[in-house]
Amino acid sequence: MLLGHIARSKNNVYYYHLKSVTKQDVKENETGVQYDVWLRLDDVIDLMGKIVATILGIALLSFIIGTALIYWVAKRLNRPLVQLTRSSKIHTKDVETAGTAQLPVPKTPQEVHDLSIEFNHLLASLNQRSEADRQFVSNASHELRTPIAGIRGHVEMIKRHGDEHPEIIPTSLDFIDKESKRMQTMIENLLKLSRASQRSLALSDVDLSETVTGIVERYRDGLKRPIELAITPDVKARTNADSVQQILVSLLDNAQKYSPTGSDIRVGLTSDGQYAIMTVADQGRGITDNQKTKVFDRFYRVDQEIPGNGLGLAIVKQLVVSNHGQIKIVDNAPQGSIFQVSFPISM
Ligand code: ADP
Repeated sequence: MLLGHIARSKNNVYYYHLKSVTKQDVKENETGVQYDVWLRLDDVIDLMGKIVATILGIALLSFIIGTALIYWVAKRLNRPLVQLTRSSKIHTKDVETAGTAQLPVPKTPQEVHDLSIEFNHLLASLNQRSEADRQFVSNASHELRTPIAGIRGHVEMIKRHGDEHPEIIPTSLDFIDKESKRMQTMIENLLKLSRASQRSLALSDVDLSETVTGIVERYRDGLKRPIELAITPDVKARTNADSVQQILVSLLDNAQKYSPTGSDIRVGLTSDGQYAIMTVADQGRGITDNQKTKVFDRFYRVDQEIPGNGLGLAIVKQLVVSNHGQIKIVDNAPQGSIFQVSFPISM
C-alpha cells in the first residue's frame, strides 16, 4: 500500500511517502517499512537567487562607487600636477617672465610639493646661469665696442684733418695700434674661455713637482720679480699638463702685475694625501674678502688703472674646474695674496 503525507515545518514543506515492502526486500531484524522523504527546494532556490542577486548588486555598486572614487582621487592627486604643467606652459610662452620664472608649490601631496620645490631650485640655477650668460655677452660687446669706437674716431680724424695737420697721424696710429692689440688679446681670451668651458680635458698622471719646477724655470727670466720655489718632490696629480702651465703662468703674471717691484713671488707645491696643492703667493696689495670670489667672474676688475680685461682669472677658474680641481684665495702675511689651486692626486 502507498501512503502520501505532507508535513509542514515553519518555512519548508516536507513530502514523504510510506512504501510497503515485500518480505524478500526485508533483511533479518529489520522492519518492513521504508520512508522516502522529499524536500521541496523552491524556497531554497528562491533564497539562493536572492543571495546571488544581492551579491551581484553589491559587486556592481562597489564597481560603480569604486570607479567614481578612483576617478575622484586620481583627479585630486593630479590637480597639482595639472597646475604645474599649466604654469610651466605659461612661463615657456611668456618671454617677460623668462629668467625669473618659478612654479607654484602645492601643499599636498607631499611628493608633488617636494618635486615642485626641487624644480624651482633647478629653474633658479638655470635662470642664474642664463642671466650670467646674458651679462657676459653684454659685457663682451661693451668691452669690444669701446676700443672700436676709439679706433673709428681716430680714423675719422686722420681722414678729416690728416692732410692739414699731419702731426696728429703718429699719435692716432699709436692709439689705433694699442687699442687693436688690446682687442686682439681680449678676443683671444674670450676664445680661450669659451674653449675651456666646452672642452673636456684629457687627464693623465702628471708629476706636478717636475712640471711646476720646469714651468717656473722657463719663465723665471721673463718675470721682473725674484721667484722662490718650495716644491715637495714626487707630488703626482691627475691633471692635464698643458692647462697646469696655463694656470700657473696666468697666476704668475697677475702676481707680478699686482705687486710692487722687488717683492718676492713664492711658488709652492705640497700634498695633503688627497689633493696636490699648488700655491702662488705675492706681496702685493692683496684682495679684500668680498672680492675674493668676484675676481673669478668674467670682466670683473678691481683697479681700472692697471691694464687688463678681467678675463684672466675667469679662464684660470674654468681650467681648474675642468681639471676637477678647486681654487681659492687666502691672505698672505704681512701683505699680499696666496692663490691656492688643488688637483686630485693620482691614485
Ligand atoms: P685682469 O688682470 O686682466 O684685470 P684678472 O681676471 O686676471 O683680470 O683679474 C681680475 C682682477 O683681480 C684684477 O683686475 C685685479 O684687481 C685682481 N687680481 C688678480 N690677481 C691679483 C693679485 N695677485 N693681487 C691683487 N689683485 C689681483
